[in-house]
Amino acid sequence: MKRLLSLALTAALTLELVACSGQPQTADTPETAATPQAVETAETAAIPVAGDFYAIQPVIGMNTLFNAGDVFYELRPRSGYCLLFRIDCDTATRGVLCSVPGCTHDSDACPAWLPGQIWDYTTFATEDTVYVYKARSYEEVTDWNSYYEQNVAPYLNDEDMLQGRTPQEFEISYHNRFVQLRQPACLYAMARDGSEQRRIDLSENLERNTALCWCDGTALYGCLSLDALDTPVQGFRVELATGQVTTFSMLAGEGIVAAEGRLLLTARVVSDVPFPDPQTEWEAYQAILQNATLECYSLDPASGKREKLLELPGSLIAQNGDFSGIAGGQLYFLEQQTQPEGDVLMTILAFDTTTGQQELEYHLPRKSVWMNDPTVVGLPDVAQQEGRYLWLIHSGDGGLLSMQILDRLSGVLYEPTMSSEQVRLQQDLGSPPLTDDGRFLLCVGRSDDFYDYHYALIDAEAFLQGSTDYTLITTVE
Ligand SMILES: [Zn+2]
Repeated sequence: MKRLLSLALTAALTLELVACSGQPQTADTPETAATPQAVETAETAAIPVAGDFYAIQPVIGMNTLFNAGDVFYELRPRSGYCLLFRIDCDTATRGVLCSVPGCTHDSDACPAWLPGQIWDYTTFATEDTVYVYKARSYEEVTDWNSYYEQNVAPYLNDEDMLQGRTPQEFEISYHNRFVQLRQPACLYAMARDGSEQRRIDLSENLERNTALCWCDGTALYGCLSLDALDTPVQGFRVELATGQVTTFSMLAGEGIVAAEGRLLLTARVVSDVPFPDPQTEWEAYQAILQNATLECYSLDPASGKREKLLELPGSLIAQNGDFSGIAGGQLYFLEQQTQPEGDVLMTILAFDTTTGQQELEYHLPRKSVWMNDPTVVGLPDVAQQEGRYLWLIHSGDGGLLSMQILDRLSGVLYEPTMSSEQVRLQQDLGSPPLTDDGRFLLCVGRSDDFYDYHYALIDAEAFLQGSTDYTLITTVE
């Protein structure tokens, strides 16, 4: 599911959900036109940008894996806690990121250990440190005794709840979850050699729907998803070393959708005609959106300067279109048009964020195709070499899935050998990351625990040609 939709393009992207489900799910309404002067004069506090931005999580899907080029960092769920692992691409092994002699990796004495469940956490790295951002939890708790009475005591003899655990193990598991729920938004910083962990508390307990998707090596950047368009919009910067939160102003209806170099890329929908409530006037809402404009800006947080990059037709994100993401400086959309004979023609459109020109118009040879979010999650060097391949998923007879890969540079469409189950897993994980030495890290299976994956490495070129000569990643615990 597209968990960050309400962040990106605010109301505009929310419509993707609506289009998928056929029913409006939120009441977000695009803002009516702001004058060009508003763009010129919007105030943004000057904040330092230390380096090129890179994505720490994709727009779509869970992020438990971060690509550092020759190694990956991965958070894996355990019973009542999570452990940070390091995948070494040279040796094709995965081990706990812990160098403490004799450590059993099952308590907070371990530098790789984090309390509770995985969906509060986002894993990423800088050049010298691995971080886990802990978002504010859905549920806030303060008192262990009442949490125990409600969640632990009634189930100590319940075999279904214990799931093979002793009552003591069950209690420890829930205590870990309690510790996680009680913890406000924070960062955990792990040394890359696994020698230590420290927690960095944020100066502000940011809302859970603050999507901090971009990093400049010293801070995270993002914005709050909007519940209503009259909500003042703010951007946030979180200093990694200190947890200090600072804000910068954004335009009404504006969301951060991507980043390029030292600039954030933002977008919003602009229309001369007020938008009706999509919940009650869906057709009228779509009609106005068809004629609206999607404006994209570059925002320099260092100077507060905002420049308009692109003006795109609202039809790209209306009922028959879908924003897919950004990679390699290209903003991707997937458009569908119903042909006179009833077939649906799918087209990939790409716009260059520097020149504003349309760079790609690729008609897909099949129906029922959609594109994996092409956002590259990884350090800047990694991000630069990716973005070449677009991952297309095709749903065939009986719901069987297959994957096609479009090489954006050559225009060649490949169909690698993948099972339907592999495609489904890869769909959940986003586009497969590419290592420094030109191999894809593919997801090839999953444990019983929903978020615990198995991986394999394969030469990218061989994979495109149909090879299944994988090197499985073995786990050393
Ligand atoms: Zn350990």
